[in-house]
Amino acid sequence: MRETIDDDVALLRLAREAADTRQRLIAGGLFYVLGWLVVSTAGDVFREHTAIWAATALAFLALAALRFWPAVPDQQLGMDRLRQWLDRQWAVVLATAALWGGILSWVLLDPHLAGGRSAALLCTIAFATAFAHNYPLRRNRALLGVALLYLPAPILLPYTDESLSVGITVAVYSVYLGVVLVRSHGDYQRQLDLYDALRMQRDQYERLSRIDPLTGVANRRSFSGALEHHVGEARRSGRPLAMLVLDLDHFKRVNDEHGHDAGDACLVRFADRMREIFTVPGAHLSRLGGEEFGVLLPGHGADAAAGLAEAMRASLEDRPLQLREGPLALTVSIGVAVLHPDAGEGGDELYRAADRAMYRAKTEGRNRVRVDGV
Ligand code: GH3
Ligand code: MG
Ligand code: MG
Repeated sequence: MRETIDDDVALLRLAREAADTRQRLIAGGLFYVLGWLVVSTAGDVFREHTAIWAATALAFLALAALRFWPAVPDQQLGMDRLRQWLDRQWAVVLATAALWGGILSWVLLDPHLAGGRSAALLCTIAFATAFAHNYPLRRNRALLGVALLYLPAPILLPYTDESLSVGITVAVYSVYLGVVLVRSHGDYQRQLDLYDALRMQRDQYERLSRIDPLTGVANRRSFSGALEHHVGEARRSGRPLAMLVLDLDHFKRVNDEHGHDAGDACLVRFADRMREIFTVPGAHLSRLGGEEFGVLLPGHGADAAAGLAEAMRASLEDRPLQLREGPLALTVSIGVAVLHPDAGEGGDELYRAADRAMYRAKTEGRNRVRVDGV
């Protein structure tokens, strides 16, 4: 159970990371195309090295296009598909960074391209800064990306005729980039943690709004939703639907004689017994209020439902509920009804019929099962 919850959290986290990754990288590729146009124009690359110019422009364009395709896989397809997609997108981003790093190295080392050097350095600083801020989702991959993109600058500048101060500034900036990236990564992880915590809290509130806090079975509100749902299903499929109303006999006496806490414990044990008896698939157990419970039995006709009701009644009679204070003999009156969709009946009619049958069980002596209309 715990593992399933952890898997769910991990899947949702990965899906969130994939969605964020896509949002952040989708438009980024076009800046490299633009950067290449600026640097190559300033460095006069087009005239000297037309083929390399065109191949590089095409490569940046292709890498930019690859960011748009394919779309993030649906999380229903599982973690492996999401991981594959993320790996592929990171491969595109890292290839772009490596290509830019190569261009930068070329422009720095080839004296004929000296005209493009300033533009190349400025673009590199801009790209690396954007990279450190935008891609902190995976720390090591992002560090590799910044290294591929940026490190040729501080490493190669000493071999150029640029002034020492430019080299030192560029080197110092690489430290800043590393620090920013690590910090953004931490911020992003905290954001994911917060998102997880909020989602779990929301799920918990959602659960609490459906569950009776004392007994753990569905509450009245949830019962109404289930009744509506099962009536719709029964109408569509033509399968029968039965409902039971269970009311503890002389429950006031339990409170009067043993105290309200013992009364509460009794309700808890009673709900446990219901879980023990109504194990058929689709059975929906709820606490309708006070010491009154309801069971919906989709697929059950009157006989099958009455059989289960009798099993519950007999179980309580034969095996008293075990409280801390000792065993407590208690009986229950149960009304059974089945839906008659052909007669235009809906959930309200079914509930009323089951309630009517339960009252008949009370007036006819309690500790018995009565089926509506029989
Ligand atoms: P009957 O056989 O006619 O059903 O008798 P009864 O005493 O069970 O009937 P009635 O509906 O008059 O009383 C129900 C009692 O259930 C009243 C109330 O004190 C008690 N009760 C309702 N909700 C709770 C609860 O949450 N905890 C406890 N301890 N008692 C409750
Ligand atoms: Mg009662
Ligand atoms: Mg009652």
